[in-house]
Amino acid sequence: MSKNYRGRRRKHPSLTLTLLVLAALAAGAVFFLRRPVSPLSPPSSTVRPLPDERADPPLSGGRVATASGVPCSRRELGEEALYTGELILVNNEVLYRFPQEQKLVSIYEEKSEGYYVRDMEVFLSPVAMEALNDLLDAFRAQGGSKSINVVAGYRDRDYQQRLFDQSAQRNGQDHAEKYVAQPGGSEHHTGLVVDFSILNANGSSGDYNGSGEYAWINENCQDYGWVVRYQEGKEALTGIWDEPWHFRYVGVPHATEMARRGLCLEEYIDLLRQYPYDGEHLTIECAAGTYEAWYCPGSAAYVPDSGEWSVSGNNVDGLVVTCKVSA
Ligand SMILES: [Zn+2]
Repeated sequence: MSKNYRGRRRKHPSLTLTLLVLAALAAGAVFFLRRPVSPLSPPSSTVRPLPDERADPPLSGGRVATASGVPCSRRELGEEALYTGELILVNNEVLYRFPQEQKLVSIYEEKSEGYYVRDMEVFLSPVAMEALNDLLDAFRAQGGSKSINVVAGYRDRDYQQRLFDQSAQRNGQDHAEKYVAQPGGSEHHTGLVVDFSILNANGSSGDYNGSGEYAWINENCQDYGWVVRYQEGKEALTGIWDEPWHFRYVGVPHATEMARRGLCLEEYIDLLRQYPYDGEHLTIECAAGTYEAWYCPGSAAYVPDSGEWSVSGNNVDGLVVTCKVSA
């Protein structure tokens, strides 16, 4: 059969000519396709999108919008934005990046009347300070005693190093590595964390374990923006044993969603990546209203053109935008 086939082709006198014509047509087609598709398009060298524009998702004519229809614009926030904000994850694997300047206030100077603070040297970020007053005022208002003593807030790197060294000296290096965060790996560096202990009216003190009248705090703290950061069963993820006295501020919407889903911050940061800016957003109903949140990789965020919103880095690989939808 193959012999016949070759023979037949050889008998075609116009084959070479046909091939030449086809080659010419192909060359013409390639030339034509390389030209701008529309006469209105400028030469391709000037229409090549900038790297940031290329990230535009294919939604409603290349625009990103909230679920309620508010258009969002892309903003480059700079690398530091990745490591700043209420949702940053800090643990022994994801270290805190100390900024040039960290805004802190003294709890002693700012606190409301319903609780104590260890001394004048306990500091917090202003947003956490306000939320601490909100939480402990609410605890008192529903009948809680004046007995909470805030014994830890912000810690700098040197302080954490001293804590680690003391623990290692007293109990050995292994023990210190298991129970004390390394310098840079303590969530206390963020200024978004408090540790409670108990100071009774008769002067006695004790550990805060979140039981008895204090169970109200651990069960309701999310309504004031706080989470019980280290819970039983999450040790493998957080690297820290159950600590009912350690509270982390993440803001009301995210604290509510973390509590509702029973997630630690390590898990929650992963969850948020499943709600990208150009996909379905996460809707959160909480005591402060209805919110929408989405994840943007890198240091640029799609933020609403109007309304109430905030943005936080996750301290790993991107930003989370949180937008108020309704009161
Ligand atoms: Zn702590």
